[in-house]
Amino acid sequence: MPRHIVCLTFDFDSQAGFIARGMTTPTPLSRVEFGAMASGRTLGFLKERDIKATWFTPGFTIESWPRQSAAVVEGGHEIGHHSWAHIPNAHQTRDEEEADLVRANDNIKKLTGRTARGYRSPSWDLSAHTVDLLIKHGFLYDSSLMGADYIPYRCRRGDVAELGKPFRFGEPTELIEMPISWSLDDHPHFEFIRTPQTVTPGLRPARDVMQSWYDEFAYMQKAVDWGVLTYTMHPYVIGRGYRMHALEWLVDKLAKEGAVFLTMEQAALEAKLKLFA
Ligand SMILES: [Zn+2]
Repeated sequence: MPRHIVCLTFDFDSQAGFIARGMTTPTPLSRVEFGAMASGRTLGFLKERDIKATWFTPGFTIESWPRQSAAVVEGGHEIGHHSWAHIPNAHQTRDEEEADLVRANDNIKKLTGRTARGYRSPSWDLSAHTVDLLIKHGFLYDSSLMGADYIPYRCRRGDVAELGKPFRFGEPTELIEMPISWSLDDHPHFEFIRTPQTVTPGLRPARDVMQSWYDEFAYMQKAVDWGVLTYTMHPYVIGRGYRMHALEWLVDKLAKEGAVFLTMEQAALEAKLKLFA
């Protein structure tokens, strides 16, 4: 019996991502502040469709937006770990990374009664230490790597990449990777960002993006009997009216075509049975 799982995931960054990039003037901060309002809209939509999702929520957001963070838990959704301060892991020493990880896990434990089972790194870039730290702190899965599309896999540690030498593969660990892709992330499709160095144009028509996201699901149905497709969204991005409208179209079409909506923890547990059987 084929089973095609969809994980709707929301990175609830609030102002943390912009502060970590040094964008602390009023307008960029207000831009992401919009996400706190839009989180209510998104939660309402999930409730209407009776779908449980995964919200990767920085400790910063839990402390700065306690009511909005509690509403996610009250909706029955999973809270995943997304660092405390949204600083990319590779910019931290091992000790700094661990301290940030523990600090955010304390917030999550206070909010939900238990530490996080799942992790997603800020800006999707792990350090050389992240896999070790996640195992040490009892995580079931990571969702920051791009080595597959529909089939979760075991994270490796100790890979060696050196210029002019063949790649050396490290050992697979018990940490499960729930793979992601920039193509299935709302941010690069929609957000216009101008910095002194670069311009990310974004602002694509929402229906076009959702059609592509649906096509990815349709291909998964053709390619594998069992698989997981993960979409990544941010309340301040997807929460704009015309994008919500398109997301509603996508989710209703996926449901009609047989998608099984699970939290990422539920999907990872199912994957674990397959990977470690
Ligand atoms: Zn983020």
